[in-house]
Amino acid sequence: MGPKRPPLPPWLEHAAAVRKKLKDRGFKPSDRVQACELCDEYAEETWSLRGETLGGRDLCYCANCGRSRSWKGAGENRRVEEPFDLMTFLGIKPEA
Ligand SMILES: [Zn+2]
Repeated sequence: MGPKRPPLPPWLEHAAAVRKKLKDRGFKPSDRVQACELCDEYAEETWSLRGETLGGRDLCYCANCGRSRSWKGAGENRRVEEPFDLMTFLGIKPEA
């Protein structure tokens, strides 16, 4: 038996599915990728959803280390969730 390939973290294993599901939900990617504060890679993507009633949601996630944050609401009601479980939010199962 050869050595097992170590499993990729879910955000890498399912990188294409993450983008597809974000688009399916109406999120729009910003054209800018920024440096991640955690891993220093230029891999942090921002996706925005403009909602009709709730002010929408912004997501920031690093395609390199998987750090995810989410902002909901607007103005004084704006709240950040960190860490944010992007995989569960998108319904992506790690073993799938
Ligand atoms: Zn990172």
